[in-house]
Amino acid sequence: MEHKTIVLTEKIPIGISLCAMGGPVRYNGKGIDVLSALGREKNDFIFCPVCPECQAGLGVTRDPVHLSGGTGEQVWTGEAEVKNRAGRLVTKEMKEGSLESLEVLRRCNAKAFIYMDGSPSCGVYRTTLKNTRRGNPPGVFGSLLLSEGFFLIPSSDLQSPLKWWDWRRRLLAFTWFSSHKLSSMQELYEAWYALKFICQELDNTWAREMGRTLASLGKADFAQFEPSFRAQVLDLLRRPSTTVKMTNSLWKHYSHYRKQRGKKVEEINSPEFKRNVTTIAKELMKMERTAFDDDFLFGASPVIYRDPHRLKAKEERAAGSTEQQES
Ligand code: SF4
Repeated sequence: MEHKTIVLTEKIPIGISLCAMGGPVRYNGKGIDVLSALGREKNDFIFCPVCPECQAGLGVTRDPVHLSGGTGEQVWTGEAEVKNRAGRLVTKEMKEGSLESLEVLRRCNAKAFIYMDGSPSCGVYRTTLKNTRRGNPPGVFGSLLLSEGFFLIPSSDLQSPLKWWDWRRRLLAFTWFSSHKLSSMQELYEAWYALKFICQELDNTWAREMGRTLASLGKADFAQFEPSFRAQVLDLLRRPSTTVKMTNSLWKHYSHYRKQRGKKVEEINSPEFKRNVTTIAKELMKMERTAFDDDFLFGASPVIYRDPHRLKAKEERAAGSTEQQES
């Protein structure tokens, strides 16, 4: 059986810190539009902006807030507080603002979130912007997102075409697999075939071990094994790759494509070729498009989104060429 790229035709909802979408809602009334770096690709998603500090009723402009006595997680357990620069306690407001923001994300059905790092609210790995201090991560809202299992994307990574490509392909695979129902070992093997190449790229040792485990299981093991399999794969898909791994993976899959289809893609260079990350991102996108047009599974990016109109156009082109061949 030949495997093809999996195509999603519904836009994925993604939550985002409102200030990262350009909303002038930071304490100083500023924002930064990280989405502009995506160009037209921005239209492939539904963005759901929230600002927990605004939702807390702190207003713009406001005194900046900070965590006091512990992390954002400890704010939820009562071991830490949130204070503003004037020393006023705003813990209760911040918790309410964060819970209401989470509710908005739930209504939007968002399972992913683009967060502004360095914020005591939305930050995940840093809660201060000062280079010398990382604060007490995660932030109050960041802590909620972590505990809810969100697919978390740092907003600064949208500025790099290669990092964004990596986040996007993992997000699409994550979204597809999160809602892909499995009811037998056979279906689990098929899902694994679609995802194993990206898993191998992200953590080869883990993926090989998983391959061996799957080979040793029988049909009767499905119900017991499926939840842990799903959790482990989804967890791995949250982890970023590296430039070297992505470049090698591109070459591996392109070489396979060339062998299978007997076609070259002029724009794709060998791993030794010296190029910058923008060029590597372009090559990866070219391979994605080529694989999709040629009904081929590009294992490094097994799930893509296509607007239903573009998909229909492709089907019509394919039907047209079949008719020509037959006549
Ligand atoms: S980081 Fe979060 S809480 Fe702070 S301004 Fe941006 S959206 Fe609002």
